[in-house]
Amino acid sequence: MIGQKAFVHFLLLLSMRFRILQGLPDIIPIGGLFHPNDDKQELAFRYAIEKINSDRTILSRSKLQGQIEKIPPQDSFHASKKVCHLLRNGVAAIFGPQSPHTASHVQSICDTMEIPHLETRWDYRLRRESCLVNLYPHPTTLSRAYVDIVKAWGWKSFTIIYENNEGLVRLQELLKAHGPYEFPITVRQLGEVNDYRPLLKQIKNSAESHIVLDCSTPRIYEVLKQAQQIGMMSDYHSYLITSMDLHGVDLEEFKYGGTNITAFRLVDPEGPEIRRIVRDWNYVSIDTNNKKGDLTTAQYRDNTTFVKAETALMYDAVHLFAKALHDLDSSQQIDIKPLSCDAVDFWPHGYSLINYMKVVEMRGLTGVIKFDHQGFRSDFMLDIVELTREGLKKIGTWNSSEGVNFTRTYGEAYSQIVEIIQNKTFVVSTILSSPYVMRKEASEKLIGNAQFEGYAVDLIHEISRTLGFNYTIKLAPDGRYGSLNRETNEWDGMIRELLDQKADLAIADLTITYDREQAVDFTMPFMNLGISILYRKPIKQPPNLFSFLSPLSLDVWIYMATAYLGVSVLLFILARFTPYEYTSHPCEKDACIRENQFTLLNCLWFAIGSLMQQGCDFLPKFSPYEWDNPHPCNSEPDVLENQFTLLNSLWFTIGSLMQQGSDIAPKAVSTRMVAGMWWFFTLIMISSYTANLAAFLTVERMDSPIESAEDLAKQTKIKYGALRGGSTAAFFRDSNFSTYQRMWAFMESQRPSVFTSSNQEGVEQVVKGKGSYAFLMESTTIEYIIERNCELTQVGGMLDSKGYGIAMPPNSPYRTAISGAILKLQEEGKLHILKTRWWKEKRGGGACRDETTKTSSTANELGLANVGGVFVVLMGGMGVACVIAVCEFVWKSRKVAVEERVSSILHDT
Ligand code: GLU
Repeated sequence: MIGQKAFVHFLLLLSMRFRILQGLPDIIPIGGLFHPNDDKQELAFRYAIEKINSDRTILSRSKLQGQIEKIPPQDSFHASKKVCHLLRNGVAAIFGPQSPHTASHVQSICDTMEIPHLETRWDYRLRRESCLVNLYPHPTTLSRAYVDIVKAWGWKSFTIIYENNEGLVRLQELLKAHGPYEFPITVRQLGEVNDYRPLLKQIKNSAESHIVLDCSTPRIYEVLKQAQQIGMMSDYHSYLITSMDLHGVDLEEFKYGGTNITAFRLVDPEGPEIRRIVRDWNYVSIDTNNKKGDLTTAQYRDNTTFVKAETALMYDAVHLFAKALHDLDSSQQIDIKPLSCDAVDFWPHGYSLINYMKVVEMRGLTGVIKFDHQGFRSDFMLDIVELTREGLKKIGTWNSSEGVNFTRTYGEAYSQIVEIIQNKTFVVSTILSSPYVMRKEASEKLIGNAQFEGYAVDLIHEISRTLGFNYTIKLAPDGRYGSLNRETNEWDGMIRELLDQKADLAIADLTITYDREQAVDFTMPFMNLGISILYRKPIKQPPNLFSFLSPLSLDVWIYMATAYLGVSVLLFILARFTPYEYTSHPCEKDACIRENQFTLLNCLWFAIGSLMQQGCDFLPKFSPYEWDNPHPCNSEPDVLENQFTLLNSLWFTIGSLMQQGSDIAPKAVSTRMVAGMWWFFTLIMISSYTANLAAFLTVERMDSPIESAEDLAKQTKIKYGALRGGSTAAFFRDSNFSTYQRMWAFMESQRPSVFTSSNQEGVEQVVKGKGSYAFLMESTTIEYIIERNCELTQVGGMLDSKGYGIAMPPNSPYRTAISGAILKLQEEGKLHILKTRWWKEKRGGGACRDETTKTSSTANELGLANVGGVFVVLMGGMGVACVIAVCEFVWKSRKVAVEERVSSILHDT
């Protein structure tokens, strides 16, 4: 083919170099085959001939002469006879016909006779005869345009409605491009009968909102009309229409419905050139003028100005032929001879003319006319048009090298949506759930939106004010949020309402989840939250009598006791070793008996004294040992003296209480070392103890059996559940985390069921359960509950993080606008104001705040209950001391009595 092209170029050049004066005949007859109701084609054909004949720059010495034959669309025999008739008269080319039934016969005759055959119809055959030049874009290329636009829109699933097998060929690339792992696409055929409603109803029931409609232009109106009748022309439906002539269909009734209707077109009917041509050709007199075309007038907006793609192509085809002939004229002597179908005959210039046509590059009504090496049109551009309130508007272009290119800016699209929204009344589906949507308390009967109040009601009101739409609030009949039944694959609740297009928006505490996002569209979140646990507040425990022991753990107490004994024993031992701890009797300078104050008992006393920060100079000796000899030099005094006089005793007690003074006197380095280290130890221990003691004495002990979800999962005594069919239950059902899987298994196994039909029911169960039931719910709702019910609290943190959004049917054009409004309200701080109003102020908000303040203000006061243990220890110590004192007294008395008896016996003897 490339060789062929090069050869033709070579011929062209050659002809220019050696320009031989040759001539075309004055009259060049060309044949046109048209069907009786194909006026426009004929008109375009005649008009093009007239245009060329009046244009002196092309075929200046010859004139084209159209020889028109009318043939019935289905009658191929008739068509072949007419072609033979034309050939017998001698024609340079044959144009048409449009019907595929007759065209193939015409083609084969033209092929045999080597007469150029120019067509402008959609032809699904991938290989074409050599004498054929078809200006209509090739099916595979067109099919690619459909694939590109569907991809650009990101349609996951769609339904193809086709009329006949040709439609499937047209959409073959679209069918092929859809992988086996993608969402299924549905293909349905329009029946022969004119009632498409049953088919459309089936599509509606499948909840499909993306439709590719491939049918003949005259049927488009009826299909759309019937789709509108059964409610398939809503804001959420999108139609891609494969016809190139959508601009010829009266779309007036569908302009305001908000349905997205898109198509490609080859010809821009609004273009200046086409408008001029259409104005002109109405003056071309043809005998069929003023007859109706193949479409009924009801379906045309303006029958006179409507130009089908095929009509424009016919105009271009005649120009292409003229241009090629003009070029060929420069190189060859062309004569046109009559040919007989009965003889083996052919036109010698046929192939040259065809080859010239295939290398010509020109601009026509249908854009650039150029052919590839296979003879198919290449490098052409299609307009993408969309139905708006002003009619069909160009929103982009498509070409085979760059694909889809949307020319409409985001701002234009946004303002168009905002404009549409302003006249809308949305049905807002919701459910009763405090504080999002609640029934208003009023003495008179309320109707309509006035029945409801709450955060979500205020939010939709604010959004409607921002965007200017109206709305009607409607409760979902089953009072559910929306969950997918995996067996029937059906949704319930508000999501169902959206999918059935009974509502335009769903607003409540509706969580954005993956499953829901697959089924419907969500705006950006207006509130963030996570799953947590609602449980009864822990019961206050009476303070422990021995809470003064709490600052140190049992281990530390044991270690301290051990350290105390160890240090005392060490002190005792070291004091035996060192000579400095020995003192002689104050009256006997050279006494051979020297005494050491660090007896084992004294060592223990020393250690405990310093641990208690008391010191141990006063060795309490309320016992015979506390009786001292006032005159140490008189070994047998009549009167003994006790240092614990009443005044001294008071002084001792107050001194200890005030943690005062010790001038204990270890004298040797070793014992002082022991004492020093012990003091250091006591210093740190006592400081730590004191620091911790404050916390233990003042903080109320709350006894809560669960602190987190893990605690719940570990036990079976406390039952726990969630809202049935809600996102919380779905979170546990779908979780891969073992703790949550265990919790889900537990919840499911419980009889009676631990799942509730509303959050309110869950809260009631927690209250009634008195600690035997915990409810897994969303943190924002918990926050609302615990603000009002002071018996309840949130246990642990959040198990996940998510948000509430406004849901709308899939493919909703309003998502961006509503998301924008939410963002605006957030930035203006209105969402925060709404939250404060409905959480902290209205409907008993702040009821538990006073209680919290009261508790915190009394937290520092210690009652007897807090410190009672210390008194008990003191009293216990006093008691033990008394007992020991009595024992010591008895023991000493006995000893004195024995000594006295012995001395009296000795004295007697
Ligand atoms: N907000 C939840 C939902 O949208 C309902 C409450 C819950 O599951 O805790 O399903």
